Amino acid sequence: MSKRIIAALCLLCLLLSGCGKETGPASGTFFAMNTVINLTIYPTKNGATPEEVLTEAETLLGTLEKNLSVTDPEAPLSAVNRDGWGTVPIETGEVAAEALRLCDWTGGALDVTLYPVSLAWGFTTENHRVPPREELDALLEHVDYRRAAVAFLPEEQTAEISLPDGMEMDLGAVAKGYAGNRLRALLLERMGEDLHALLDLGGNVVALGGRPDGDPWRVGIRDPENTDGLLGVLGAYDAAVITSGGYERYFEENGVRYWHILDPATGEPARSGLKSVTVVGSPADGMTCDALSTALFVMGLEKAAEFWRDNTGFELILVSDDGGVTITEGLRDSFSLSSGHGEATVLERQ
Ligand code: AMP
Ligand code: MG
Repeated sequence: MSKRIIAALCLLCLLLSGCGKETGPASGTFFAMNTVINLTIYPTKNGATPEEVLTEAETLLGTLEKNLSVTDPEAPLSAVNRDGWGTVPIETGEVAAEALRLCDWTGGALDVTLYPVSLAWGFTTENHRVPPREELDALLEHVDYRRAAVAFLPEEQTAEISLPDGMEMDLGAVAKGYAGNRLRALLLERMGEDLHALLDLGGNVVALGGRPDGDPWRVGIRDPENTDGLLGVLGAYDAAVITSGGYERYFEENGVRYWHILDPATGEPARSGLKSVTVVGSPADGMTCDALSTALFVMGLEKAAEFWRDNTGFELILVSDDGGVTITEGLRDSFSLSSGHGEATVLERQ
């Protein structure tokens, strides 16, 4: 082939790939933090390309996985859990400190020191079993987020976490929400403000901006009864949409289903009358929404409604054991139930 033809072909490739970058989105699927992560990013006028940002996002997710994991024996939090004390990257300390604050805010419905109890049920190891009551009572003696402490050493960019004897910390209830916050910050920094992106971290969704045509993103909310189906669709523009459900991780024994969201009061799977809780909030508050989805699942419908009335900045979709759906008034116009689910009850602030 002549040099001229090769040059012409190269130019054509360059033009075609250039066109792609200007008009089309880039998508990436990664497995990190024990979940499948799907990112769809549209190009912006004056920023890094979606392809570049996807590569950076994958690197970031790898770092976050390490900094927040409890299952990886090499992770800093694993050392803290083994020794009761340890120096961790400042990020691990910041997430732990914020998580402890969220435990307090939810009156202990969220308790990130439940890990020994989760381990006894085998939820992280897949060695599922129903621990006897005495075993749970003994383990619960060590569960109390108020006794965990985080101290910061900003000059070294590290933190120290200390836990009393027998206590272990697990940031699983907030890690994906935090990861969403960090991915959003990466996109803002590298691509500018005019973002159109959908970040899906295993069902924890962050919608940035709307779709490029100006419509909101359409985020499907899973039906906890039939997880292949949709409960409904939420129109989301700049929002975090975070769901906790008993269907996400569970095992069955003698016809009873045991799921991974535990009630810190009993050490048993939370049976509060709710099957799933979706929290919708600002995309900058993904970690808070993640903490709330877990905590409100533990609280149940009435306490969750009370908590929502006492606080601002988030809306809810709650599915009860009988299939009834309750939404808060801020979602009245943006959430539509799929057919066959009847009408949602709308909670008002009064
Ligand atoms: P999520 O999917 O966000 O609801 O988080 C569930 C994960 O958080 C579980 O897999 C456990 O690792 C952990 N967990 C379960 N129950 C609680 C709880 N009550 N408080 C804090 N973490 C919990
Ligand atoms: Mg959560």
